Amino acid sequence: MKRLSTAAMSLLSAATTAMAGPGMWVPLFIDDNIDNMVAEGLTLTADQIYDANNSSLKDAVMIFGGGCTGEMVSDRGLILTNYHCGEGAVSSLSSPQTDYMAHGFTARDEADELPCAGLQVRHLVRMEDVSDQVKSLSDTVAVNSVVRNAEEGDKYEAEVEEMFHGNQHILMVYEVFRDVRLVVAPPQALGRFGGETDNWVWPRHTADFTLFRVYAGADNKPADYSPDNKPYRPARHLKTNIAGVREGDFAMVMGFPGSTDQYLTATAIEALRSYVWPSVVSLRQAEMTALEKRMKRDRKTAIDYSAHYSSIANGKKRTAGEIDCTARANTVGVMRAQQARFRQDAQMDSILGKIDDIFSPQYTSNMLTLRLAQDTWSGSRTLRLAYKFAKELDKEKPNFETLDNLATDFFAHSDAKTEQRTLAAALEELRRIGAADLPKEILLTAPAKLSRQVTKGVFGSHGKLQKAMSDPDAKKIILSDPATRLALALIGTRHDKTVANQSASNALHNLKAAYAKRLSQIRPDSLLAPDANFTMRIAYGRVEAPRTGIENIDRHFTTARGILAKNATGNPDFALPDSLKTMLGGGYGRWADADGQLHTCFVGSIHTTGGNSGSPTLNSRGELIGLNFDRIWNGIASDYRFDAERSRNISVDIRYVLFVIDIVCHGGHIVSQFDIVNTPSR
Ligand code: ASP
Repeated sequence: MKRLSTAAMSLLSAATTAMAGPGMWVPLFIDDNIDNMVAEGLTLTADQIYDANNSSLKDAVMIFGGGCTGEMVSDRGLILTNYHCGEGAVSSLSSPQTDYMAHGFTARDEADELPCAGLQVRHLVRMEDVSDQVKSLSDTVAVNSVVRNAEEGDKYEAEVEEMFHGNQHILMVYEVFRDVRLVVAPPQALGRFGGETDNWVWPRHTADFTLFRVYAGADNKPADYSPDNKPYRPARHLKTNIAGVREGDFAMVMGFPGSTDQYLTATAIEALRSYVWPSVVSLRQAEMTALEKRMKRDRKTAIDYSAHYSSIANGKKRTAGEIDCTARANTVGVMRAQQARFRQDAQMDSILGKIDDIFSPQYTSNMLTLRLAQDTWSGSRTLRLAYKFAKELDKEKPNFETLDNLATDFFAHSDAKTEQRTLAAALEELRRIGAADLPKEILLTAPAKLSRQVTKGVFGSHGKLQKAMSDPDAKKIILSDPATRLALALIGTRHDKTVANQSASNALHNLKAAYAKRLSQIRPDSLLAPDANFTMRIAYGRVEAPRTGIENIDRHFTTARGILAKNATGNPDFALPDSLKTMLGGGYGRWADADGQLHTCFVGSIHTTGGNSGSPTLNSRGELIGLNFDRIWNGIASDYRFDAERSRNISVDIRYVLFVIDIVCHGGHIVSQFDIVNTPSR
């Protein structure tokens, strides 16, 4: 493994003793952790995990879509990810006639696999420490030169990412695959089993997976969709281990965690949890309630809005959980006590004091308005579409074909009344919250009236939009439409508030960097992990049952029996067709555990976050034992402070995934493409 040291990194990694537990580690520097990982049970070398010159585990783990992880499970490009990551694609491919959401989908053979327009998979070719060339992301000359060299024309896409908020800069080079096809989707009743009742909680029983295949050109390189493309042959695919997991087993998760914020102060967390998060929750709840009512009315609306609803609901419940978890864990008090010790160091005291000062009432109020503007805009599909139109039409040569396609897709999968009611509910809630400086039309016009204007204008029907687009004055008509005006006003507010907070945010960024640097100096015996930033990471821990809190359950796993018990409660989130109930009742074949039961999910003490959805959970040999998909309520605030006692990640047991593919989806021919092994890892 090629490893270039830098002053910043050597300072940060001067330590030799790593802590087990928290941390999402950069694979390029996994050498720093390897002794500790081996002591915990890992049997791989650092080079087997990450090697830029030879195939390694990192070649099997990819970015799936815009915000998830997926992993290669066969030598013919099969990529496994979560149901909640593939659901958008399944929903776009579904109609009330095919209804792959209700029935699931299984490709009979490769020719039967369904192309997913717009879906991409990114393979990390290599990482490189470029801290010597790039001192700051604002040095665009240095960044562009590093990126240009790495991209080799249009062969790769490259990015420079900062670690420790700018103490270090790492180049990421990706191959971007553009032909991705659906192979298996379980019925939604299993893929979303538990719905919002179970989201973010344990015990859990969700078959949260979908299976796709990546296709490449004849040269095995990324290519646009073509029927002539061939299944991608990855440099590495994972072996799938069906021997089962035991409490205490070493386990690790490799993937692309999106974002964490571990270098904040207690005062900052207190400001967020009291002033920002509660309103974020109430706005999202208002949108959800309106959507739920509409989705109950007919199947088409339920299909069309399923992924949109889930993403709003997921974010809302997480934030509500963070409020609750930080209260129950006394996160602010615990952090204050810990930071009081750090503050005995004069330099650290000054850094932390300055971070506290950033979170002034003005700064937090700007943050709240920014967040509400963003969430109101993103909660309305009409406003999102209108903004895309505005951006395209603003170009010198707008691409009308792109706009046509966007419009066709939108009107095929949306419903005017649902759009109107959801927006009205959001606008109503915004008025109730009364945040400062929201666009004036929101404060001056009655919510029902404004939402009607927005949804009855040119974005109210495909016919109206087509008519507007074919008008010689198309740009003027569309830009002056109420939907476009509101979308631009909300985006404008987001922008203004970002600018208003800019100098404080820049200062905060530098202070976090200083915090991390000083921490490594005053605690030279502990290794620090950088915050997550949607770059590849590896986190490790154990298969481990929750010990405290509401999930104080002495078992690390759940079984199909629990599915049937939940179903018997009558809660619609646990509804199952009779045929599925029968299948889950027995006859598990080779997918059963030694105890005869079908194990469905398990928990571990591994530090994960959003973006890790779909990440492989691996055993000590780097074999696939599960699919990471969630965290538990008791430790849900781990983005701010990972608490080894409380924080747990949840994975679907890989045997449950294979059972569903094999028995429920009649996909024996697909199971046989997995590389299955059956030897216990210890
Ligand atoms: N289920 C989570 C999400 O979708 C994954 C996590 O944050 O642990 O965001």
